[in-house]
Amino acid sequence: MTPDAGVYAYSAVLMGSPILLKLFEDNQPLAAQVFRLIKQQENLFTVNRADSEVMAINHAAGRHPVVVSEPVFALISVAHAVSLLPNSAFNFTIGPVVKRWKIGFQGHEVPPAADIAARLRLTDPHQVILNEAERSVFLQQPGMEIDLGAIAKGYIADRVQGFLRQQGVQQALINLGGNVQTLGCPPHDAAGWGIGLKKPFGREDELLGVLRVQGKSVVTSGIYERYFERDGRCWHHIFDPRTGYPLDNELLSITVISDRSIDGDIYTTLLYGMGVEQGLAYLADQPELDAVFVTRDRQIICSSARHFSFNPLDAAWQLRY
Ligand code: ADP
Ligand code: MG
Ligand code: MG
Repeated sequence: MTPDAGVYAYSAVLMGSPILLKLFEDNQPLAAQVFRLIKQQENLFTVNRADSEVMAINHAAGRHPVVVSEPVFALISVAHAVSLLPNSAFNFTIGPVVKRWKIGFQGHEVPPAADIAARLRLTDPHQVILNEAERSVFLQQPGMEIDLGAIAKGYIADRVQGFLRQQGVQQALINLGGNVQTLGCPPHDAAGWGIGLKKPFGREDELLGVLRVQGKSVVTSGIYERYFERDGRCWHHIFDPRTGYPLDNELLSITVISDRSIDGDIYTTLLYGMGVEQGLAYLADQPELDAVFVTRDRQIICSSARHFSFNPLDAAWQLRY
C-alpha cells in the first residue's frame, strides 16, 4: 500500500502478471478480498495447472463430457460463439498450438511445419459440444484443448469491477496486466484515469502516450508482451488460427476501449486478425468500441475518440485519427 495524492495502490502477482488495484481509501481488507476473488477465478480457468475445471475438460477430450460450474460454462459459451464467427481470428480451441510453441515458457521453439499442421487439425471449434441443460462441455477429438487465455482476464476484470461496485466503491482501477478496468473517475482528475500506452519493445517505463478514460475498460494486446526471436523474426503469442503461426501483419499492438473488459479482450484478438484497414472499417459500425492500433511503421491510429482521449508523448510516432 502506497498513498499518493489520496490514491491507495495495492499489488500482487496473480495469473503470471503483476496485478494493481487503486482505491481512494485505505482498505487493505477489501484489496485482500479482490485478490482472493481473482485467485479463485484463475483457479477455474487456468490451463497452466492440472486441477482447474478447464483442464478437467481437456483431460477428458475424446472420451466424455465434463460438467462444469456456471461461470466456466458461461465463459466457454461466449468463447465458443466468438470462435465460430465467420473469419474469426479468435479460436478458443487453439490450445494444442499454444502448447506446442510454448511461447513465454521454457522450451519455446519454432515447431516443424508438419507438427503445426497436425496440431491445427485439433483446433476446430465445431468439435466442441456444449450441453446447456447439463452444463457440460465435450471435446470430441482426443488431444483437443481449450485455452481461455485471450478472454479470461477480461472476464475476471469485469467480475472485480462488479464486486467493487457491490461493495459501494465508486472510484477504482484494476490492472490485471494488459487488462485495465475502471470504476468512475479519479476524484482529483476530471480528465479521467490515465493509462499508459507502452512503447512496443521499449523499456517498461517508455510510453507512446497516455489514454484517458472514465468508467471504461482498456485492454492492450501486443506482440512484444510474450515472444522469442529466432531466424531474425519475432515469434509472439497471438496465433493465427488459420495457419498455426503467430499472426503476421503490420501491427505491434492493439488497444480496445469498451465498457466491458471481456469485450476488450475478445476484440483485441479479433481486430488483430483484421489488421488496420479492415479493423477501422469494422469499428465504424461499432459505436460502443474504440481502438488504438500501433503499427510497425510507427503510426498510432485511433478509430475515433468517442470513449477516450489520447495524449501523445513520443514525437517519433505519427498520430492519426
Ligand atoms: P495476454 O493478455 O496474456 O497478452 P491476450 O488477450 O493477448 O493475452 O491473448 C493471448 C493468449 O490467448 C495466448 O497466450 C494464448 O493463450 C491465447 N491465444 C493465442 N492466440 C489465440 C487465438 N487466435 N484465439 C484465442 N486465443 C488465443
Ligand atoms: Mg489479454
Ligand atoms: Mg485478449
